[in-house]
Amino acid sequence: MNLNNGLRYEGMRKKLVDGLKIKGIRNEKVVEAIRKVPRHLFMESTFINFAYKDQAFPIGAGQTISQPYTVAFQTQLLQVKKNDKILEIGTGSGYQTAVLCELGAKVFTVERQKELYVKAQGFLPEIGYNPACFFGDGYKGLPAFAPFDKILVTAGAPTVPENFKQQLKIGGRLVIPVGNEKHQDMLLIIRTTEEDYKIEKCGSFVFVPLLSGTVNF
Ligand code: SAH
Repeated sequence: MNLNNGLRYEGMRKKLVDGLKIKGIRNEKVVEAIRKVPRHLFMESTFINFAYKDQAFPIGAGQTISQPYTVAFQTQLLQVKKNDKILEIGTGSGYQTAVLCELGAKVFTVERQKELYVKAQGFLPEIGYNPACFFGDGYKGLPAFAPFDKILVTAGAPTVPENFKQQLKIGGRLVIPVGNEKHQDMLLIIRTTEEDYKIEKCGSFVFVPLLSGTVNF
């Protein structure tokens, strides 16, 4: 990347975060992370000029990179603290993963599409982010690494999988879109005791579906 392009993208990112603030993203640390992560490097070259528009875009394998507003909104709900241990379900392009790493979290991310997993696992360290990437069915969570401070699901689920609730620390936060294929409610679920969870609905969104099993090509 030459310097001119670097500055050009920095300017575009500044405009993007100004827009996110107007849309209600208030958490300064989240805004700062979005301002730093080079979203254009996560997109296919066909869409590179759209990288800083507040839109979702195709990333291959029939999946999409989430809209920046959605990434900012979910991240804000998580209230990420430095060194938080976070499980992310649905690595996709790795963009959301990078935002969590930028906030200083220890990220464990799972993707069911081999092609996307391979790409993100290779690319994220190249730009200085070092999450633990896993290929597998995220419906299971990651029992070997549980419990987590936070769990973030970036695909729409029909119901809240019990595994995610069980793998959350007491006081931990789970952010998950739940609904049908057309739209989902963003749920913030806080584990208040061993058995109790507080659930809050935080608006309506559209995600690609959370699917079980893996795709190996
Ligand atoms: N956070 C990603 C969003 C990608 S879209 C980004 O910013 O690019 C959601 C992703 O979830 C897709 O890549 C899809 O393959 C993945 N996914 C769906 N069901 C899954 C499951 N059961 N386990 C792991 N990943 C899953």
